[in-house]
Amino acid sequence: MDTCVNCGKTPLTKIEIGATKKFIHRAATEFWCKECMCKRFNITEEFFDRKIEHFKNQGCLLFL
Ligand SMILES: [Zn+2]
Repeated sequence: MDTCVNCGKTPLTKIEIGATKKFIHRAATEFWCKECMCKRFNITEEFFDRKIEHFKNQGCLLFL
């Protein structure tokens, strides 16, 4: 459950699981690690972190 479906990294952090739900599918049952999500969306890890901070600041429950 908490293994990256793309590269097999385990365990995934709460942030990575939350981000999969936020970026890929709200009801996702397969999760992606940060590195794979960044590659998939062609974004930097810095951008990813900024996005997560932004969602946290909005009070997004996926990241609490
Ligand atoms: Zn991965």
